[in-house]
Amino acid sequence: MHIFSKVKICLYALSFSILFLSCVDDKPPVDKPITPVKAKYSIPKFDGQSAYDFVAKQVAFGHRLPGTETHKKTAEWLVSQFKEYGATVIEQDFTAKVYWGEELPSKNIMAQFNPTAKKRILFAAHWDSRFAGDKDIERTDQPIDGADDGGSGVAVLLEIARQLQANPIAAEDLGIDLLLFDAEDQGKDGDGSEDTSLTWCLGSQYWGKNVVPSGYSAKYGILLDMVGSKNPRFGLEGYSMRFNPNLVSKVWKLAQGMGYSNYFVNENLGGVTDDHVFVSTYAGIPMIDIINKPTGSGERAGFGTYHHTHDDNMDIISKKSLRIVGQVMLAVIYKEASSTF
Ligand SMILES: [Zn+2]
Repeated sequence: MHIFSKVKICLYALSFSILFLSCVDDKPPVDKPITPVKAKYSIPKFDGQSAYDFVAKQVAFGHRLPGTETHKKTAEWLVSQFKEYGATVIEQDFTAKVYWGEELPSKNIMAQFNPTAKKRILFAAHWDSRFAGDKDIERTDQPIDGADDGGSGVAVLLEIARQLQANPIAAEDLGIDLLLFDAEDQGKDGDGSEDTSLTWCLGSQYWGKNVVPSGYSAKYGILLDMVGSKNPRFGLEGYSMRFNPNLVSKVWKLAQGMGYSNYFVNENLGGVTDDHVFVSTYAGIPMIDIINKPTGSGERAGFGTYHHTHDDNMDIISKKSLRIVGQVMLAVIYKEASSTF
């Protein structure tokens, strides 16, 4: 009896378990725990110090006036950095005919991540520096450092390249292109008597008409110009609002949501003839411009007081500004890769 009962109890227990299990199998649980929707890629931290060092390195080479030895040395370094970070690099040599008549050997540099990916986004900056501090009151014929005007945008793109290597994105999700234009800043300041707009942005004009790699296109583009000075103010630039108002709205909302409303302001700026104009009109890639135009900076085109003067040196560069712009760009990239942008 004792033993028999034990067996019986066991049988009862077993059949109960089977019954229980079959119940579980037959009826789906009513309150199944909901797994939170997780972004496919997390957004890496942009390193402001690293970007700052990239500005300093460019300035240390000397001016980046097309056709000079310091320009050539800088190009070699830029190409080697991008290669070190795992990018496929295309060098596009061309001749820039500048407004004073010289023909200067120039080079656009394209660094591609996931070059076979169908979905692509493009980031750009100009890597040349202006031939002279012609808005200064002294040494107006001497080349400037161009720490912010040129150097800052390039530095942010180099740090993005470093982050892309450390935090890879699968080719099926997204391809990223970092494009450095040459001969952007050798143009003529107009006095209104003639249209001088085509004397600027010679690298992007050339690339826009002769895209590399051949047949290249991208979903959209973002240009960075003068993004590294202290307390920059990025407003809604006129041409960007014409070419891609939706992207401007998304980027500015993203930046403001990240706590950077003092930097990314909802104020209309006039149109700036910058590389994005030629990428949009010649290459047909709708591109926007993130460019610093401080309130009350006043004179000429209304850029910072350091613009095209010898004050555009390392003293005005801010790690924080570089970090903020770079962090917003990384958010765009990794959200785009996760299809959440
Ligand atoms: Zn400039």
